[in-house]
Amino acid sequence: MNAAITLIREVDALLPQTQCGLCGHRDGCLPYAKSIVEGEDANKCIPGGQPVADALAMRLKRPRLQAEASVWPIQADGRPQRMKAIIREDECIGCTKCINACPVDAIIGSGKVMHSVLSDLCTGCELCIPPCPVDCIDLVEDTQPLLTDIQRQQEQNDLRQRYYAHIQREEQQRLTRKGPIVRAEIDTELFAQFSSAVEEVPVIKLIEDQAKIPTTLDAKTTIELAKLRTQIKKLEKQLSVRPDPVKQQQLDQLQQRLDEIQEL
Ligand code: SF4
Ligand code: SF4
Ligand code: SF4
Repeated sequence: MNAAITLIREVDALLPQTQCGLCGHRDGCLPYAKSIVEGEDANKCIPGGQPVADALAMRLKRPRLQAEASVWPIQADGRPQRMKAIIREDECIGCTKCINACPVDAIIGSGKVMHSVLSDLCTGCELCIPPCPVDCIDLVEDTQPLLTDIQRQQEQNDLRQRYYAHIQREEQQRLTRKGPIVRAEIDTELFAQFSSAVEEVPVIKLIEDQAKIPTTLDAKTTIELAKLRTQIKKLEKQLSVRPDPVKQQQLDQLQQRLDEIQEL
């Protein structure tokens, strides 16, 4: 792992993994971690508040900065009040827009049926609220006891895993999605690069748009490929019934030609 990735990983590990984008990085904590390593101020994580700004300043050996203010009051641990979303279920029309918007897959439901928030998983990121066409999602104070450091670390690891799974699913649907895009498409490339270098996160694979891949095969080559494959199949069938050194040699030559064309 190179030094920059190692540092991005360490900075990312200090961020809450709410993926809310309130730091100005729409795609969540990892892009902000990268930008911090590249020189951006490390006091912009709103849910992390002063404790996260201080932890980042200490790790990066930078001057301590005042954390950007949250709209919520400060809890006993110095972080802004944790919130949870709840759906007023009798008003929900089952449009599913909130499901796609939730970065950590904390909402369940399907088309035209009532939706619910899995309260234990909800981070209060608020991303489900704007897409709701009937405005039936409320934010309420999280009344659970404050997390210990170990619990917070476990929660952050879990949220990161859930977000990466969400990104991979979105990426897989990107080319075939029929419904509206509720949240701007995530810039998946950074996550794919990071996940290939860091063991503890699920690997994210980019899905290529086959229509955009330039092809170097002209019509003549395509016809030759088709002919080669037919001849190879025929010879393989014959050889499977009775070995024949001459036919075997022909098969090897055809296979070699096929490989050459495919490598073009
Ligand atoms: S949790 Fe903090 S770092 Fe992560 S997206 Fe939200 S504001 Fe940005
Ligand atoms: S349910 Fe809403 S507030 Fe809760 S994590 Fe999902 S998008 Fe964020
Ligand atoms: S966006 Fe609102 S109306 Fe649509 S499923 Fe979610 S809660 Fe229900």
